[in-house]
Amino acid sequence: MPVFAPLTVLILGGTREAYALASVLAGRPDIRVISSLVGRTARPRLPQGEVRIGGFGGEDGLAAYLREHGVRAVIDATHPFAARIGWNAAAACGKVAVPLIRLERPAWRPVDGDDWIEIDDWHDAAAILDKRARRVLLALGRQELAPFSGLDDIWFLIRSVEAPRPMPPFRRAEIILARGPFSVTDERNLLRSRRIDTIVCKNSGGQATDAKLAAARELGVRVVIRRRPTRPDLPIAISTDEALAWLRSVTDR
Ligand code: NAP
Repeated sequence: MPVFAPLTVLILGGTREAYALASVLAGRPDIRVISSLVGRTARPRLPQGEVRIGGFGGEDGLAAYLREHGVRAVIDATHPFAARIGWNAAAACGKVAVPLIRLERPAWRPVDGDDWIEIDDWHDAAAILDKRARRVLLALGRQELAPFSGLDDIWFLIRSVEAPRPMPPFRRAEIILARGPFSVTDERNLLRSRRIDTIVCKNSGGQATDAKLAAARELGVRVVIRRRPTRPDLPIAISTDEALAWLRSVTDR
């Protein structure tokens, strides 16, 4: 049987998909897997295999990292809304001729019974709320709250993974700290108990946080949902298996 030197694969991570892929690759003797996290949360869950934490210093920093560590393939499994790192990865991999794929969960799509307003910018969302909402669930990242804090006539339920610091000056708000997955029953109870008329969220996709959309549909709650930002035109895998098949196709592993 031929003996291979392990081939180095970099996963740009921070998502469930990235953790799942790392745990498969970390079990393989023919692969050295390095997961990269930006490290913004206080105690990030660590993926299996090697982990590096922190930015690379733009596309040039990432290109230098790929060269220095002999990386032979890159999988951009960052969150659909983490667009900058996606562009940096495309530019860096182009410079050093390392194959790159995007591992991404498909976007949610509206179905019959949904009342969605799709927007590209939080300021557009705030303008819609100002005219049409009174009790709003903000299911957003803690850094995305500021554009809503001037809407003094609206009562907000803010749900985020970590406490906003500093907290923008909301006049009337309750905060819930929680990380998905959430069930439809829990989401229904939450929307009912707080008498929510509108949800604001991103089109993150995936099953961990889609229950709020089903509950909103049942209860006739409007959803103001942000479209995904544009990313580089790359091959896309939507599952671990597809990412592994791609890896086999661009390497001999
Ligand atoms: P971003 O706007 O695309 O990236 C900002 C900067 O953070 C990048 O230029 C890069 O710094 C650094 N960076 C981002 N992801 C990195 C990674 N995996 N490893 C090393 N450096 C990384 O991203 P973001 O929206 O701030 O998100 C940051 C991270 O949080 C991502 O890894 C993403 O998967 C995760 N996340 C984001 C969201 C979201 O809604 N945006 C939600 C859940 C998880 P340098 O230019 O210095 O290399």
